[in-house]
Amino acid sequence: MTAAAANKGMDGDTFDQFLEQLERYVRERLIPAEKDVIAHDRIPDEIVDEMKDMGLFGLTVPDDYGGAGLNTAQYAQVVKTMAYAAPAFRSIFSINVGMFNSAIKNGGTEEQKAEWWPKIAAGAIACFGLTEPGSGSDSAAMQTTAKPDPSGNGWILNGTKRYITNAPHADVALIMARTEKDALPKNAHVSAFIVPMDTPGMSTGSPDEKMGQAGSHISDVMLDDVHVPGDALLGAETGKGFRFAMMSLDNGRISVGAASTGYARRALDSALRYATERKAFGEPIANFQLIQQMLADSETEIYAAECMMADVTARADRGENVIRKAAAFKVFASEMCGRVVDRVVQIYGGAGYLAEYDAERFFRDARIYRIYEGTTQILQLQIAKHMLRDFAAQG
Ligand SMILES: Cc1cc2nc3c(=O)[nH]c(=O)nc-3n(C[C@H](O)[C@H](O)[C@H](O)COP(=O)(O)OP(=O)(O)OC[C@H]3O[C@@H](n4cnc5c(N)ncnc54)[C@H](O)[C@@H]3O)c2cc1C
Repeated sequence: MTAAAANKGMDGDTFDQFLEQLERYVRERLIPAEKDVIAHDRIPDEIVDEMKDMGLFGLTVPDDYGGAGLNTAQYAQVVKTMAYAAPAFRSIFSINVGMFNSAIKNGGTEEQKAEWWPKIAAGAIACFGLTEPGSGSDSAAMQTTAKPDPSGNGWILNGTKRYITNAPHADVALIMARTEKDALPKNAHVSAFIVPMDTPGMSTGSPDEKMGQAGSHISDVMLDDVHVPGDALLGAETGKGFRFAMMSLDNGRISVGAASTGYARRALDSALRYATERKAFGEPIANFQLIQQMLADSETEIYAAECMMADVTARADRGENVIRKAAAFKVFASEMCGRVVDRVVQIYGGAGYLAEYDAERFFRDARIYRIYEGTTQILQLQIAKHMLRDFAAQG
C-alpha cells in the first residue's frame, strides 16, 4: 500500500468548535432520544435530517466536493463523540464516512469523485457489500460475479451479499465482485462496482433481527442480472477491488476502535453514577474497594485506547501505512469495550441484568465490535503476519 499524502484536515479552531457543538448535541438531543430509537427500532427522520444538516454524512469528503474535509484524527474524534450515544446514531452515517468514502478516495476516478462525493456529502446513504452467505473472514472467496455485458456495454452482476449495514436505507452500494472465475494472486479476481440501489435487479431482504444496536439495520442485498455501465467500475480498472476494500478497512477499523472507546466511556460514566447512588451495607457501593477496582481498571483501559487512537490517527494523517496499528487499535479497543461493559453490568448488580436499566443494552450493543470489520482472530493473524514479515525483512 502506498503512503498517502499528509492530511491536514479542518482548521483546528473550527474543528474544536464543531466538536463542542457535537458534544452538546449528543448530550441534549441524541441521548434523550435513545429510548424512542430503541422502542421503535429506528432513528426518527427529523434526527437523520439534522445529522445531514450538521454535515455528519460527509465528514471525510474533501471540502471542495461539499464535505467537511476532516482528517483521520478529527474523524475518529467525531466518531468517538457520537458513540457516546446509542450506536445507531453512528451507524447510519458510518459507511458513508468510512468504507465507501475511503474506497472512492483510494480508488475512484476523478469522474467518480465528482459524481459521488457531493451526493454523499449531501446525505445520500451508502452501504458496502463484501460479505456473502458463504464468505466472511475469507472474503476473497466471494461468489458474486461481474461479467462483461455481451453487448459490450458495461457489466452484469449476480450474487448475494449478507449482513450489509444500512442496506435497507441505502441509495448506493459499493459491491465487491469476481471479474475472474478463478482466484488470482493478490486477489486480483475481485473488482469493485458503484451500484445505485434503484438499479433494476437490485433488491434487499428484510432487516435481520440482531442482538443489539437497535435502530441500526442490516440485510441481504440480492443482485439479479444487475446491469451497470462501464464507468461503475471503481478506478476504471479490474482486479483492484480487494486492494481498495482492504485499504478502506483500515479506516473502518479505526472507526470501530473509536466507537468502542466512546461507548466504553459512556458505560463507565453510567456505572460511576450508579455506584455513587446505590447503597449496600449502609453506604454507597462506590466506597467498596472491589467496586473501585472495576472502575479504575475500566478507566485505565479506556485511557490506553484513547492513546492508541491518537497515535494511529496521527500516523495515518502523516501518510504512514497503518495496517498493523489500525488492526491493533481495533482489537484492543473492541475487546476493552467488551470488558468494560461486562464490569458495568457487574457494578449494577441485579439491575445490570434488567432491560429497564442501561447496562444490559450496553452489554449487548458492544458485542458486535469484536466481530465486524475483521474479527479479533483475523486481526490477530494479520498483526502477527506483518510482525513476522517485518522481522524477516530485517534479515
Ligand atoms: C451487525 C453486522 C454488520 C455488518 N456489516 C457489514 C457490512 O456493512 N458489509 C459487509 O461486507 N459485511 C458486514 N458484516 C459482516 C462482518 O464483517 C462479518 O460477519 C465478519 O467479517 C465475520 O465473518 P463471518 O460472519 O462470515 O464469520 P466467519 O468468517 O465464518 O468466522 C467465524 C469464526 O471463525 C473465526 N475464524 C475464521 N477464520 C479464521 C482463521 N483463519 N483463524 C482463526 N479463526 C478464524 C472467526 O474469527 C470467527 O470467530 C456485518 C456483520 C454484522 C453482524
